[in-house]
Amino acid sequence: MSEKDRLLGMPHGTAQNKLRKMLLWQLVVETGNDTCFRCGRPIDSIDDLSIEHKEAWQGASDPKEAFFDLENIAFSHLRCNSSERQRAKTHCSKGHPYDKKNTYYWPNGWRKCRECENNYNRSDKGRCRNERFRQANRDALARKERERQATRRRAGVSSPGP
Ligand SMILES: [Zn+2]
Ligand SMILES: [Zn+2]
Repeated sequence: MSEKDRLLGMPHGTAQNKLRKMLLWQLVVETGNDTCFRCGRPIDSIDDLSIEHKEAWQGASDPKEAFFDLENIAFSHLRCNSSERQRAKTHCSKGHPYDKKNTYYWPNGWRKCRECENNYNRSDKGRCRNERFRQANRDALARKERERQATRRRAGVSSPGP
């Protein structure tokens, strides 16, 4: 650890990057550029700021030019940027295709690879988790049944006699 690192309590390079981002954030706000390129809503905090390329530079005919082209730069929420990147992926991290047959969606819209999920379910860890789910389900059903019976009993007691 260098003397500078010690004084800053972090690596000097990290501190410089942080300072640059703070300066940028100040300018973004001052120039009214604090609107997300993806969703159109305001970007409220520096932690949510992401700098991205409007068109992916890797696939451009001149990648280097596309990378440094300031016209191709936009600001967005970190989460908007990463969910866009997530959508652009055609394969899961294990390389299975995200096609119609192999993809299903969580209620929150996340994609899940069927093959990976199946592999997980067959593993010891997955079997353990599924058993826990089933047990929790049985417990919940039993609790509901007990409540129903209790309600019925209460109703029987409090109903007026003939
Ligand atoms: Zn956004
Ligand atoms: Zn997979």
